[in-house]
Amino acid sequence: MNNYEDLVKKDLKYIWHPFTQMKDYETDEPVIIDRGKGVYLWDKKGNKYIDGISSWWVNTLGHSHPRLNEALRKQSEKIEHVLLAGFSHEPAIELAERLVNLVNKNCHSELADYELRLQGELCFPEMPLRASNQGDSESNSSKITKVFYSDNGSTAVEVALKMAYQYWLQSGFPKKNKFISLKNSYHGDTLGAVSVGGVDVYHKIYKPLLFEVFQADSPYCYRCPANCEQNSCHIECLNSVEKILEKYAEEIAGIIIEPLVQAAGGMIIYPAEYLVKLRKLCDKYNILLIDDEVAMGFGRTGKMFAYEHANIVPDLICLAKGITAGYLPLSVTMTTDKIYQAFYDDYDRMKTFFHGHSFTGNPLAAAVAVENLKIFEEEKIIESLQPKIKKLKSSLEKFRNIDCIGDIRHIGMIGAVEIVKNKATKEPYAFEERIGLKIYKEALKRGAIIRPLGSVIYFMPPYVITEEEIDNLTDIAVQSIKSVL
Ligand SMILES: *Cc1c(COP(=O)(O)O)cnc(C)c1O
Repeated sequence: MNNYEDLVKKDLKYIWHPFTQMKDYETDEPVIIDRGKGVYLWDKKGNKYIDGISSWWVNTLGHSHPRLNEALRKQSEKIEHVLLAGFSHEPAIELAERLVNLVNKNCHSELADYELRLQGELCFPEMPLRASNQGDSESNSSKITKVFYSDNGSTAVEVALKMAYQYWLQSGFPKKNKFISLKNSYHGDTLGAVSVGGVDVYHKIYKPLLFEVFQADSPYCYRCPANCEQNSCHIECLNSVEKILEKYAEEIAGIIIEPLVQAAGGMIIYPAEYLVKLRKLCDKYNILLIDDEVAMGFGRTGKMFAYEHANIVPDLICLAKGITAGYLPLSVTMTTDKIYQAFYDDYDRMKTFFHGHSFTGNPLAAAVAVENLKIFEEEKIIESLQPKIKKLKSSLEKFRNIDCIGDIRHIGMIGAVEIVKNKATKEPYAFEERIGLKIYKEALKRGAIIRPLGSVIYFMPPYVITEEEIDNLTDIAVQSIKSVL
């Protein structure tokens, strides 16, 4: 069999890794993972690591979960894949039904949000939270009723953008063919998703290939674009969205956002009130709200879906990553009956949604996703998270007195700290200094996988992590930061 060094050599000979400057591997070779269990991963040398980032935000219930393994095995003995055009299968049907029920069930009452605020979960506890009124007469057609399958987060976003555009085209608004997105947003790496992206490091180089979007300010509280303080904030950063709408609403199909957390942009966490007000703006100016829950869906923020914190209903919802608990690629774009009806007609009217992928709604992935949802329900996963969420929040206090920590951010099962060169001026480290990479390497030596975004160190562990392990993970990060800086 291959020994470790042979594997590394072959890896570098044949594989071009994602989001990686391959030359970096001259000094830091890739870690060859052999197996995983729960919150831990083991490499081929036998080193054990705590998976502090859920293997790029996909894993929720832990690695090698017995029930998910069994669901996968069972489905593989029936049918591994079949097309979803003209055909269907039980896992896709059951999953779609469960998702529609889940999305409609989890429209929480204001009381629930009030309780959350008492627990200090909302960012700005002093601000009144108003539920958005979706116009009762329209409530049925604006309910989320349909599931469109694809196979990763980027394609779920492509589907949402195409659907939104085509919806307006087929509803008598052909001029509505542009989108608004936010600075610091990330919606995937295919070209449509990159067009609505707002992270220069990833996106700028592809600019000549992209379609034009209106870019609004990022709700980045620590570096507020409207120069507000958190304790007197009235979501002034949303004014930049309204300014665009005042002028161009007639040309705009929709706005796409990452709810509550701009994840890849640096774990930028913003208040639920932003979403409440944004929903109202969308209604006022007649544009669609596209809710990209790819990273936040399935419990990450402490509720099943992040939009529940704001008690709103989006027009389109993108789900991926945690949908299979991190097992297999699968995604959905969910939408309302109103949007669906704009496509429903005789074939020769040419209103079909011409989109699909070879592995649309793959049965293996769908079967695992169904089992995932059963586990959420039967094992009351959301409730079980609450003490861990508290623990994560209190563990972040360890960073409070470190000189270079400018900001500490937390929601649900996400914690993040932003490292700065100068706390008073918030001056960041230059990206060439690769502070994050250095900290990552130190943490790896100490048995933890964290993968900073620039100089933002974050924790996004699988939900099976224990309170003690949360302590260990954050301790390792503190030691690693101190040893680098
Ligand atoms: C990861 C991510 C995507 C892209 O999903 P892929 O499965 O990697 O294509 C889209 N939107 C958000 C918010 C994400 O975090």
